Amino acid sequence: MTLRPLYARLDGAHIEETPFRADDGLRLGLTRVRPGVREDRPAVLLLHGHTASSDMFLLPETRNMVEVLLDDGYEPWLLDWRGSCRLPWNETGRRYTYDDVALYDIPAAVRHIRREIGGRPLFAVAHCIGALSLSMSMAAGLVPGLAGVVAQGVFLTPKLAGRTSLKMTMAGELLRSRFDHIPVDFRKVGFWSRYTPLFALASRGADCPDPTCQILCNSAWGVGASLYVHDNLHDTTHDRLAQLLGPAPLWILPHLRRVALARSMVRWHQNDDRYRALPENALDHADRIDCPVLLISGSENGMWLDSQKLCYQVLTARQPQLDVRYTEIPGYGHLDAFIGRGAALDVFGHILEFLDEHR
Ligand SMILES: [Zn+2]
Repeated sequence: MTLRPLYARLDGAHIEETPFRADDGLRLGLTRVRPGVREDRPAVLLLHGHTASSDMFLLPETRNMVEVLLDDGYEPWLLDWRGSCRLPWNETGRRYTYDDVALYDIPAAVRHIRREIGGRPLFAVAHCIGALSLSMSMAAGLVPGLAGVVAQGVFLTPKLAGRTSLKMTMAGELLRSRFDHIPVDFRKVGFWSRYTPLFALASRGADCPDPTCQILCNSAWGVGASLYVHDNLHDTTHDRLAQLLGPAPLWILPHLRRVALARSMVRWHQNDDRYRALPENALDHADRIDCPVLLISGSENGMWLDSQKLCYQVLTARQPQLDVRYTEIPGYGHLDAFIGRGAALDVFGHILEFLDEHR
């Protein structure tokens, strides 16, 4: 199995793909970005969102997260966890839940990086489901001793957006058609396909004529949420959304729904001993979080709403010993906090400030 190559172009740095397997043996992607000058730098593990990939931190058309980290003296590591669109089997639908990500993917990556970097500090910067799954790994005590964690969009207390009417209509369509995935690339799908009604629904009230953009920005794969503030994207990024985000698997929705209803990251597998290491409810074990946490979110987050503000309130009330902060980014939605054309100016500075303070 080969991973789709990254779309990255970096000057003066070397991108090194590491052969890497999760703790259940699944082949994943782990990329080390070595700066031109070898020196002892703190490492930063970047965790993408579901159906995205490490490419979301490497957009050549903008000043991206990896460049900013390199310039500020960090060594970036990128994990393509099992929900990455760079992994070819995600087109065909190998099933998993976020339990697997929290138990098998993230802890294995942290151990691997530690073996390579020795005693240097290791941070994690995580987006969306990457951050949600990381919160479960941390609450399980599986990744102790991180130097600090930045979580974008959501962390321990998910509130999921969704317009009920659209959601219900979609759900009906989906059940009738027995879909397994919702595609995002309309050029691949074709106009007259069984997915046409989904795109038609997503286009309702959309300002942009691009069907891929409509299903992401206007409906977030049929969930009825919104992934980004449209005007924040570079034109090039807008035109390659179908490259950056793969098809969305529908069989993950029951776990997502359970998580959203609980307002907490909860384990999916209740009676399976293999997942015993994970707490049933991550929030109940927030005392295992042993490092400073920066929660960030766009003020217009149309996916997870004000989940981060809630998380900040809950953590400061329940875990007063924890160094937890909340920063809201005005005018930003969700994914644009990393892939927006101005993210380096508007968002990354907050992340660097936090990392610099704890390095
Ligand atoms: Zn658009």
